[in-house]
Amino acid sequence: MTPYELIRAKRDGGTLPPDALRGLLTAYARGEVPDYQMAALCMAVFFRGLDGAELRTWTEAMLHSGSTLRRRPGSPPRVDKHSTGGVGDKISLCLAPLVAACGVAVPMVSGRGLGHTGGTLDKLAAIPGFRTDLSLAEADRVLAELGVCMLGQTEALAPADRRLYALRDVTATVDSIPLIAASILSKKLAEDLDGLVLDVKVGSGAFMRRQQDAEQLARTLVDLARDLGCPAVAWLTSMDAPLGRAVGNGNELLEAVDVLRGGGPADVRALTLRLGAEMLVLGRVAGSAPEAERRLASAIADGSGLERFRALVRAQGGDPGLLDSPARLLGPLETTEVRAERAGHLASVDTLAVGLAAVVLGAGRTRSDDVIDPGVGFTVRHRPGDRVEQGEALVLVHHRSGQDVGEVCRRLAAAVRIGDAVEPVPPLLLARLEASRP
Ligand code: URA
Repeated sequence: MTPYELIRAKRDGGTLPPDALRGLLTAYARGEVPDYQMAALCMAVFFRGLDGAELRTWTEAMLHSGSTLRRRPGSPPRVDKHSTGGVGDKISLCLAPLVAACGVAVPMVSGRGLGHTGGTLDKLAAIPGFRTDLSLAEADRVLAELGVCMLGQTEALAPADRRLYALRDVTATVDSIPLIAASILSKKLAEDLDGLVLDVKVGSGAFMRRQQDAEQLARTLVDLARDLGCPAVAWLTSMDAPLGRAVGNGNELLEAVDVLRGGGPADVRALTLRLGAEMLVLGRVAGSAPEAERRLASAIADGSGLERFRALVRAQGGDPGLLDSPARLLGPLETTEVRAERAGHLASVDTLAVGLAAVVLGAGRTRSDDVIDPGVGFTVRHRPGDRVEQGEALVLVHHRSGQDVGEVCRRLAAAVRIGDAVEPVPPLLLARLEASRP
């Protein structure tokens, strides 16, 4: 079938034959199909969806459009985590070295932040010299030595997804569940995994604001991963408030290091242990989630998780000494307080608005060529449900001397709602999903 015939068939609600669909995606990856035809097909998929067989074919074609991070014979089990993104989500930074210290290798391929959500690569870029542009051969060496590496999506890994994602971004076809699932899994499965844990965020700061949409994405992801031979577990977790206290880049990195030191905010620690436990069980180094959580807690207590992170920073070109020196890592900063206008209980935080305020501050980007200041950010001092007094500092804005933060403070003040009574707050961990088919 020609590209035209495939587009027309999907537009009219038909099913695409696997060989023709695979051929189209392979040709697109080689630059032999024009963007306008792929855009038309993505729009047809947006409205018509993909059935299970089409979704598998689509994902596998993108996965095999480049190289993979092949496991060496006799190497330890390999499990990764993917988060759909949120505000203050620094979990990967503490999770990956901690899980590696417990015997499961984590080849963490991450993205940069765009829009209101932060990206792991930007948080790592707060460490001068830290290289995330590793070639697959370099990633393989770091992974073999330390059981963990952290890198961006290279040209070599699922290049068809890279090209297609950029196209979807400008043709209003990003928010299609099958296209999202194929995009995420084509990259993750190129890491040659034994298991994958998915953190699907729900709430005002998430890509999916409604739990039923997040659940549908999570279900599609775990079933597709299983169909492609990779056991997966998904957690729906709340993004109705920033995760932890730090929002920014360098400050989020330091908060993740606090978790590895045995401190850090309770929600960041709890989510790290929960997702880490799933990874150890999928990697078969622990028989149950409670046993896995105990092992992770001891890797925090004996310092091996932190030591692994320091070794990773050294191996990828950074100075681990900076993790002990916030002033050197962040540079000179001033602080402006956003205060409570009244006493009461913090009823809600518009987390999207907090993320967008961070972009205005310079901690995020709206265009892919925007430059981030890795030192600036917020400390969010209260969570929904907390009692607050009039005039009390709700958020600390850390900024450069002379920087005008009026607009940032106005946005933050408008993002919080204080009520008289305590209102129900969703739990952090909302639901757990496994594949529905064996
Ligand atoms: N993240 C991805 O990697 N791909 C998508 O399509 C959406 C979010």
